[in-house]
Amino acid sequence: MKTDRRNFLKISSLLASGALVGFNPDNSSTLIRSFSLCTNTATLNSNPDFFDLIVNSGVNVVWMPLFLNGYFPYPIEDIQQWKGRFEKKGVEVQILTVPLGHPGNSLGGLPEFESTPKNWPRGVDIEGNKYSGTSLHPVITQENISVIQKVAKSGFTKLFLDDDFRLARTPGKIGGCFCMEHQTEFLNKYGYQDKDWIQLKQDIKDRQLNSMTRSWIEFTCDQLTDSFRKQQIASPEVKLGIMVMYLGSEKAGIRLSDYNGSLMRVGELMFDDHAMTPVKGKTDELFSALFHRRFVAPELAYSETTAYPAAKLSARNMAAKLHITTIADIRNTMMMSGLEPFPFTHWSLLAPAMKKAASMHKIIAGQQPKGPFKHYWGESSRMVGDDKPFSLFLASGIPFEVTDTPAKDGWTFLSDFDFKDVVSKKLESKGTTFINRLKSGTQSPGQRFVAENLGDLFALKEEIIPLLHGIPYVIEEKPVVCAWYPKIKTVLLWNLSESKESFTVKFKSKNHTVHIAGLDAEIVQL
Ligand SMILES: [Zn+2]
Repeated sequence: MKTDRRNFLKISSLLASGALVGFNPDNSSTLIRSFSLCTNTATLNSNPDFFDLIVNSGVNVVWMPLFLNGYFPYPIEDIQQWKGRFEKKGVEVQILTVPLGHPGNSLGGLPEFESTPKNWPRGVDIEGNKYSGTSLHPVITQENISVIQKVAKSGFTKLFLDDDFRLARTPGKIGGCFCMEHQTEFLNKYGYQDKDWIQLKQDIKDRQLNSMTRSWIEFTCDQLTDSFRKQQIASPEVKLGIMVMYLGSEKAGIRLSDYNGSLMRVGELMFDDHAMTPVKGKTDELFSALFHRRFVAPELAYSETTAYPAAKLSARNMAAKLHITTIADIRNTMMMSGLEPFPFTHWSLLAPAMKKAASMHKIIAGQQPKGPFKHYWGESSRMVGDDKPFSLFLASGIPFEVTDTPAKDGWTFLSDFDFKDVVSKKLESKGTTFINRLKSGTQSPGQRFVAENLGDLFALKEEIIPLLHGIPYVIEEKPVVCAWYPKIKTVLLWNLSESKESFTVKFKSKNHTVHIAGLDAEIVQL
C-alpha cells in the first residue's frame, strides 16, 4: 500500500480527538475477551501513525502474514522489528500464513502471488480441471513444516493457518483432489476398482451419502489432519491454529474433532454490507459460529470479523459482528481485511464497541444459552449438504440452544439435507418437533413445515407462547436474537434492525423493557 497523505490526516485527527477509548489490556490472565488485528509490515511501514492507532484502540494481539500462497512477501526481520515495538506497548505479535493457496484472489493486493509456485502440484477438480490452492500434495506439507520451524526460530509462539487450509474450493462443495495420484491411492486403500471411480464421481455430484462417498470424505480428511499434525509435531513450541471457512466441515476435508485443543477460528461469511445487511445474513453468520464452537473451547476460539474487500463493510456492521462473537462465547475477536487495512475511520466506532462487547462478555462468559428453539447441524449437512442452514429462527426473540445430537424437546430447525434424513427415518428423536422448509404438504407427526421468513416464524411464535412456562421471550414481533442464560437469570438481546428499537422481555409475570440502538446489543437482568 502506498503512503496516503489523507490517511495520515485521518489517523492524526482520530488520535487527537480522543474518540478512541483505549481500554488498556488489563492483566492478561483476567482478560475475558481479547481483540486481534491482522495487518502486515508494508501497511505499518507506509502508515507510521497506524501503530499508535492500533495500540490506543485496545487491540491485544497483532497477527502478521509471513508465508502467502507459497511465497514470503514480507521479510521476517521486518516483522521481528515491529514485534519488538508492539511488545513494548503490551501488544503481542504472532504469525499467520496462507498455507495451501487460496483459489483466486482473496488477499486484495499482491497479484503476483495469486497462484501458488510452479513447482507446487496443482489440484484437479471432479471435471478434470487443474487449479491452484486448496489442495495437498506431499511437497506442500514439507514446505509448511519449514515455515513453522522458521516461525519457532524467530521467537513467535502462535501460528494460524488461514482458511485456504481446506480441501474444497468453496463452502458447500464436496472436495478432495481428483488427480491420478490421489485416485490410485484412494482405490488401493479402500479396495475399489476403476469402475467405482466413475460411480464415486456421480455420487459426489448427486450428494449421495453412501459408503463410498464416506470413504472419499474420510480419505480427504485424513490428508488434511495428517498435514496439520506433521506441522504441529515439527515445532510443538508454536501453538498451531486452523481458520475454518463458513460452515467448513468434513466435506471440505475438515474433520473438526481432529483439531480439539488447537486454536480454531470459526467460519463466518458476511464480509461486506451487501451480505451482512439482511437479517438472514446475520443469522446465517451466527449459525456458523455457534456450530463451530461445538468443537473448540471458548478460550481457544477466534471470530472471523472480516471486512472484504477492505472498504466494503461499514464500521456499524463490523461492530455488529462483535455481538456474534459474544453470543457464541468466542473469547478472541479476529479482525481481518485481506492485505489492505479497512478504513482507519472505523476505529472511532470500533474502539468503544470493543470496550462494550468486552464488558458484556464478562457477564455471560462460560454460560450456556438455553431455550426451546434448537440449533442443530447434522451429519448430512456436514458431509454432503449445500451449507444453507435454516437460521432465521435465531431472529425470533425466542431463546435457543445448540444441540450436538437431536433434542428431545422443543422445536429443532433443520437444513433440507438433515430433514431428508428425518423423512427416511435415518434421523429420529422423540419429543422434539422437526421444523423444515422443504415444502408444504403432508407432514408426519413430529414434523412441521414453516417457511423461512419472519412472518411465518412470528406466526409460529404466537402459537407456542402459551406453551412456554418459566421461559423468557421477547413480546414484540421484531427481529432480535434472545440468548437466555438461566443460571445467572440474564438475557442478552441483539437488535437486528438498523434503527433503535424497544423490546419487552416477558419472564413469568414480569415485563422488562429495554431500548437498544440499531444493530447493538444489551444485557437484561431478569
Ligand atoms: Zn492430487
